[in-house]
Amino acid sequence: MNWKRVLIAYDPLQAGMARVTLEAAGLTVQLRQMELWGVAVEVLYSHGAAPSVWVPAHQEQTALRLLQEQFDSSAEADEPDWQCPDCHEPNGSHFACCWNCGTQHRESP
Ligand SMILES: [Zn+2]
Repeated sequence: MNWKRVLIAYDPLQAGMARVTLEAAGLTVQLRQMELWGVAVEVLYSHGAAPSVWVPAHQEQTALRLLQEQFDSSAEADEPDWQCPDCHEPNGSHFACCWNCGTQHRESP
């Protein structure tokens, strides 16, 4: 199956919340790198590794929209949003790629 990353989480709790949200909507969700959490968090982050949330490619747009709604409704806004260089849609700082067209924003936090 072709998987797409829809979120780079800044901690395991956020990754877990994202999974709950997506699974509640009937999506298939895979968390990666969670098993490494707690071993050497600082080392992982220094190498650009963080827990990330993946969904099958055909569910990517749905997942991104759900996550956008989730974070829009949360009070956390300590990072600035970014604007997609391709379609100029505003995106939440938590998103690894544009919710609208899928353009990658960054490879690592
Ligand atoms: Zn875009």
